[in-house]
Amino acid sequence: MQVLGWLPDALVSTRGARADKALYLTFDDGPDHACTPVLLDLLRAHQASASFFLVGRQVERHPELVQRMVAEGHRLGNHSYTHPYFGQLPLARQLHEIDATDRLLAGFDGVRHHRFRPPRGVFSPALALHFAVRGRNLTYWSYNSMDYLRRPPTELIRRMREVPPRPGEVILMHDDGDCSTRVLETLLGEWKAAGFRFCALPHARSADQRRARQAASSSAG
Ligand SMILES: [Zn+2]
Repeated sequence: MQVLGWLPDALVSTRGARADKALYLTFDDGPDHACTPVLLDLLRAHQASASFFLVGRQVERHPELVQRMVAEGHRLGNHSYTHPYFGQLPLARQLHEIDATDRLLAGFDGVRHHRFRPPRGVFSPALALHFAVRGRNLTYWSYNSMDYLRRPPTELIRRMREVPPRPGEVILMHDDGDCSTRVLETLLGEWKAAGFRFCALPHARSADQRRARQAASSSAG
């Protein structure tokens, strides 16, 4: 995470909009055949929208869960095709991982370029430059739930009550285990009572879309 200090906000987004006490729940590494449906049930019960950073090969295994995410108002993000360690992968293979997953996800939501979150948060300067030139950004998080440590949920709940998320925070969680669901079963209600609402991150806008928008507004005006 230290490397992020020198990258511009436009390239690496770690925080969403702060208006209206929004919290951005994000779940990595799914979909999982056992854990994801239970999590989706919980989110639906709280009318909460979220962003799912999906692994392409998992998408191929459980397409019905991805369909359900889209149908229930969640947004899809790209978390590579096989979840490799990007730090040691040639750029061409990194791009293959990203493009293959973008194509898969587009079949569900019609979006061409999804927000990309690199596996384990690791990316190379070459990938950062590739994205910067194309106006794409890498989507990180501002609040780490640490659910991947497989500690008892009660411990995580206590820590998250001690240092609660602030409005606009992007919360990192995972749905390849049940820890996040067990934590949220307790905290969603508390956060809602504190005035928070739960939103999916807006779709990332690519340079292509920005250019099209600029062309449309200049021809209109
Ligand atoms: Zn991951």
